[in-house]
Amino acid sequence: MTDEFTTEIYYDEDADVSHIDDKTVAVLGYGSQGHAHALNLHDSGVDVVVGLRESSASRAAAEDEGLEVATPVEAAARADIVKMLVPDTVQPAVFEEIRDELDAGDTLQFAHGFNIHYGQIEPPEDVDVTMVAPKSPGHLVRRNYEKGEGTPGLLAICQDATGDAKEEGLAYAKAIGCTRAGTIQTTFREETETDLFGEQAVLCGGVTDLVKAGFETLVDAGYSPEMAYFECLNELKLIVDLMYEGGHMEMWNSVSDTAEYGGLTRGEDVINREGMEQILEEVQEGTFAREWIAENQAHRPSYKQLREAEENHQIEEVGARLRELFDWQAEEDAEEAEQEEVRADD
Ligand code: NAD
Ligand code: MG
Repeated sequence: MTDEFTTEIYYDEDADVSHIDDKTVAVLGYGSQGHAHALNLHDSGVDVVVGLRESSASRAAAEDEGLEVATPVEAAARADIVKMLVPDTVQPAVFEEIRDELDAGDTLQFAHGFNIHYGQIEPPEDVDVTMVAPKSPGHLVRRNYEKGEGTPGLLAICQDATGDAKEEGLAYAKAIGCTRAGTIQTTFREETETDLFGEQAVLCGGVTDLVKAGFETLVDAGYSPEMAYFECLNELKLIVDLMYEGGHMEMWNSVSDTAEYGGLTRGEDVINREGMEQILEEVQEGTFAREWIAENQAHRPSYKQLREAEENHQIEEVGARLRELFDWQAEEDAEEAEQEEVRADD
């Protein structure tokens, strides 16, 4: 297994779709990533068969787009490259179903490293095991490709039985639009651990808890929930948009000096570095993975409870009410703009 951290980045000129245009790709799953990969590969001239259960509601959607659909086993049997795009928690079971269809020299490909890195899937030694993972939700992977633009992606090689794993992975990345925007070479370990850490500490866990803590602090001190919602949740998007566009400096330059001084002197006070290190340690040691696997085996008792508490949090009720007002406001703005356009045409 390759296990060093690297930062090689590949673009269109480094990749050649002809490495896979005589091959068949079985795309297992037709959700967020599955539909985007299948359609982009198809439009890039690659033979695609979508693998879905007989009972799957997605079958009609894939067929309507002109794609061939078969069961996961039939699709894998025909394919040279099997792309696992069913939910991560379902992948070990689907792998057991299709394992016998993996011939020597075939490729088993992933878009996330969890099941390989934590040993939930153990592929045969004579197949290539790779990862081509867009760093974005599937609908953007599809939309960007259709516009002639790309989506940044990751490439990792875990097992190279044929000696061609990298050329094939790059060809796949190009065929779905990922080398247009740049595809970073990484490892299953790095992708899995940074992905889990990021979503827990910063993106999904960190940011929702930050927002809730800010909201609750204001409401508990007697301020109105509506004010707290605007301040702690709604305005977050404006700030993140600035950071996304031009980094922290663009954001600091766009807010008032008072906001900048207050933020620079006080932000660190709400960050718990030890907690972050603890999260990373649990990811690295596999403690989190074992907990999540056991939680799934027990049919998700804690997950359901936590989700229910989240649904019933006051910020959800206040937010739903206020967002309805925005919709009405947005409609009114659009109408006004239209009338102004008509006036301008006169
Ligand atoms: P998803 O939940 O959107 O779609 C899963 C698909 O699998 C659905 O079409 C569902 O019908 C199908 N499916 C479910 N159980 C099945 C079974 N037993 N047999 C066959 N098909 C079954 O999943 P997703 O978000 O596209 O994730 C797919 C992979 O891509 C995961 O490994 C995920 O980590 C990775 N990934 C996702 C994103 C993202 O933004 N969504 C980004 C990068 C990587
Ligand atoms: Mg095969």
